[in-house]
Amino acid sequence: MAHKGIWAYETFAFINRAYFSGRLPWPYIIWALTPHGKCIAWANTVRDKSRPPIICLHPSLLGGTEKLEPWKIKSTWLGPALVFDTLLHECIHIHDWIQSRRQRWADEP
Ligand SMILES: [Zn+2]
Repeated sequence: MAHKGIWAYETFAFINRAYFSGRLPWPYIIWALTPHGKCIAWANTVRDKSRPPIICLHPSLLGGTEKLEPWKIKSTWLGPALVFDTLLHECIHIHDWIQSRRQRWADEP
């Protein structure tokens, strides 16, 4: 995929519209190796909103480069559909964090 950076943001925009009524904040989406290559992706938010959420996707989700079946995922499963599912999963984390933050604020006197 030549323009996976742009595609990831377009996919995020679709997911945000389709599943979250556009309520998720616009994140930074990076494609990078994860620590020890152990996880396929991660997401991270800060409580004080000083920066947008970050979603990191491992490039091998689109197809293994060093291993044919990274994370023991069948090579035929790797590709855009798996990235879509992974991105949706990370968006659910961001949504949950935002919800729990709202909950915390709501609990304050
Ligand atoms: Zn997760």
